[in-house]
Amino acid sequence: MPKVLRINRTLVLPPGRKTVLAAARLIRNGRLVAFPTETVYGLGAAAADRLAVKNIFKAKGRPADNPLIVHVACLEQVKEISSCIPPGALELMQRFWPGPLSLVLPRSNRLPQEVSAGLPTVAVRMPAHPVALSLIRAAGVPIAAPSANRSGRPSPTTLRHVLEDLAGRIDAVLDGGACRLGLESTVLDLSGGRPVILRPGGITGEQLEAVLGTTVEVAEGCKTGTPPSPGMKYRHYAPRASLVLVTGARRRRLALMAALAGCYQKKGLKVGILQAPPGPEAFRPAAKRLYQTLRSFDAQGVDLILAEGVSAQGLGAALMNRLRRAASRIIRV
Ligand code: AMP
Ligand code: MG
Repeated sequence: MPKVLRINRTLVLPPGRKTVLAAARLIRNGRLVAFPTETVYGLGAAAADRLAVKNIFKAKGRPADNPLIVHVACLEQVKEISSCIPPGALELMQRFWPGPLSLVLPRSNRLPQEVSAGLPTVAVRMPAHPVALSLIRAAGVPIAAPSANRSGRPSPTTLRHVLEDLAGRIDAVLDGGACRLGLESTVLDLSGGRPVILRPGGITGEQLEAVLGTTVEVAEGCKTGTPPSPGMKYRHYAPRASLVLVTGARRRRLALMAALAGCYQKKGLKVGILQAPPGPEAFRPAAKRLYQTLRSFDAQGVDLILAEGVSAQGLGAALMNRLRRAASRIIRV
């Protein structure tokens, strides 16, 4: 086995066949291992191991009513955790897996309730990352894995972010470099009559509609009543600094941001500016940078972040969703 670093009690494993096997053994023994995916780093435990799953919630400080996404490496594993495969699911798996699409399906009784926070459904996805896939294959079991951050913090897109939040609280982390997408998966609910996007992400509504041949609704979340996805009721992805999101016409948006920046700087506050990507072609690099930038503002001691809204087309919908949920205030001009 290559030289392995230990930070507090957390093993830092470089990628490689031997370290993946060691990580898989830890998973099978009920331990917690963070691993890279193409979206963000996940904090994994054997999905069928109730105690290990409970420990995920403990390590993250995650509210018990926020369900986890189960990661699989083949269709057989989907059948282990769900009681049926609804219409459209197979087509979506064929087209987008491995990839950033989580499907909410009816849950099998064999899965501990804690995984899906007591809901009758389970979210499942196949990650498009060689380290993640070899880990799941080597463990031989579906792996429940929410993002590997402390609850409420920006999701981790590098090994360093995982260690910042969880060193000493988990058993190991597999290093896989920076995550290619940098933003979480799309969560699509297929458990009801109509497909509904519960969280916009790496696969856009337009892409889903093209495969399903129907319109796909986007849940508005926690405006009123019960949020469709429990995770949607929490403020999320949030840096320590307050984030003010400015939306509306570009010229007015920029004018207000400049005025606000001047005003806060005069008061002695350190202001960070998060500019919108110039157009949809720049959404991908912007998504990849988002969490990294929020964390670096914290590292620089920024007091207030002024973030510019983007158009909600394509990946812009996911970017806006994360910005809204990181924001302590949204101003529309
Ligand atoms: P995370 O893995 O931390 O990115 O969070 C997973 C997201 O998927 C959260 O927003 C959860 O609320 C959502 N989710 C997971 N399982 C389900 C489910 N069975 N039904 C609805 N939403 C789910
Ligand atoms: Mg998360």
